[in-house]
Amino acid sequence: MAEHAMARKLLGKIELIGTLECLSGLHIGASKENIEIGALDSPVMRDPVTDAPYIPGSSLKGKLRALLEKVSLELQPNRNGGTRSNPVMRHECDGWSTGDGQPGAPHCPVCRLFGSTKRSEGSRDAKNYPARLKVRDLHLTDASRAQLAALDTGLHMTEWKFENSIDRITSAANPRNLERVPKGAEFTFAMVYDVEDPDTVKEDLQNLKLAVQILQADSLGGHGSRGYGWVELRFGQTRARKVDWYRTRDEAAQKEVEGLDALNDEQFDELAKWFAPEESARDVQASSSSSSSGGNNSEEAA
Ligand SMILES: [Zn+2]
Repeated sequence: MAEHAMARKLLGKIELIGTLECLSGLHIGASKENIEIGALDSPVMRDPVTDAPYIPGSSLKGKLRALLEKVSLELQPNRNGGTRSNPVMRHECDGWSTGDGQPGAPHCPVCRLFGSTKRSEGSRDAKNYPARLKVRDLHLTDASRAQLAALDTGLHMTEWKFENSIDRITSAANPRNLERVPKGAEFTFAMVYDVEDPDTVKEDLQNLKLAVQILQADSLGGHGSRGYGWVELRFGQTRARKVDWYRTRDEAAQKEVEGLDALNDEQFDELAKWFAPEESARDVQASSSSSSSGGNNSEEAA
């Protein structure tokens, strides 16, 4: 593929913020290497600075990707995300490449949003396709932080759950301790979507909304089939900003609409159109020829 065809322009960003509530205990596992022997069998991830449990953005992003992949029936699983002996096939475009007659990441609903890497043995022309969506790490809200800090469970801000499995043949017990963030805990989330192509904004955001809806009927983190990781995401206002806003802080280059979960088809269309360069140029002409619309005449906020 020619180099110029790979140019990616940034028209602006759409910021999605809100709160994730744990409707059941949540277990996002950490490596055991850093904890004492004889402690929990399965500890949760903690922020090394505050020691508070947190949810890595990669955990949420990875789950959303996997769910969108599952419902995108036209996408063929083509990569092994597991090991050689225990393969777990998943889909990932070979970066930008359109090799094998398959469309590359810019044309793929999953890879366009969540990114794709070229295969190591891929063609010389193949390039990684960085995700349009960034998912920040999720930290506890102040209220949850205070509430969890006051817990008397023997663990800092978490609870532990004792589980026992019985070997069906020998009847031997296999007890273990699982650490989890208690039900009711709330985390702040932030996702940022890069607007590169107004024509695909609607589809990308609709796909993200779909993945979030399915997640709420699925689970986040470990042991979902046993009731862990039931979460609800509540979106605050969606903030759309053109690149100009970052340059000038001009209020006209920023707008706020409802939360992602509340946006309908028409609102997605409007949002996409707002970012289209030629549309905005036309709007400026239209508003300068009609004195009734706000734009230039409205008073500047101090
Ligand atoms: Zn793909």
